Amino acid sequence: MVVFFGPPGVGKGTVAIRLAKEFGCRTISSGDLLRENVKSGTDLGSQAKKFMDSGGLVPDQLVTRVVMAGLDKTDGCIFLDGFPRTIVQAEELAVYLKERNWELRVIDLEADDGFLMARLTNRLICRDCGAIYHRINLTPKKEGVCDVCGGGLYRRADDHPDVVATRLLVYHQQSSPLRDYYRKLGLMVTLRGDTLLNETLAAARKVLVNIP
Ligand code: ADP
Repeated sequence: MVVFFGPPGVGKGTVAIRLAKEFGCRTISSGDLLRENVKSGTDLGSQAKKFMDSGGLVPDQLVTRVVMAGLDKTDGCIFLDGFPRTIVQAEELAVYLKERNWELRVIDLEADDGFLMARLTNRLICRDCGAIYHRINLTPKKEGVCDVCGGGLYRRADDHPDVVATRLLVYHQQSSPLRDYYRKLGLMVTLRGDTLLNETLAAARKVLVNIP
């Protein structure tokens, strides 16, 4: 299993999804799993929603339950995006991996807050296929319409500047300590998330081909 770690907006999901295809792996995203639960109105979704709307973290117990359920359904190579985000989650994951006899590697992407704020507050997402655009750097050919599938584009509610500021703060306070945790275990490689997408992809590919 490969965990893609880093602050919101650094490109974890984009890199994981693109490389998953190439390496024959499946991507599981904690944020997507939580949003699916919110959309389909599950109990867990309604409990998680208030935390997500405010930019805070969903309690460990809830998010761990949803991610483990996703992992249970999967075999083979997995790219995990957005989980773990706390030491408690990392410890839960370690127990789970041990039971399944799976190895772990972590790809850590980094960029500064100003860059991430500009990227997230200008992000547009296709409602139908999930393709990602940027209102200045990566505009669709026709405003509001996805180039790939013709779907409508929207801005995620938590990509508004106030909420992004909270998400970045929460990352520094609660998630970034995980970098030390994984560095000490010798499992993590740090790459730049603020270069061109193709450069980040190339750097991550180099790491992945060297995993035994
Ligand atoms: P981003 O990384 O861009 O913030 P995600 O889609 O990964 O976006 O997550 C959206 C929201 O879902 C987070 O702000 C948080 O509230 C919740 N979330 C996702 N993963 C976790 C996690 N591992 N632990 C706690 N909350 C999470």
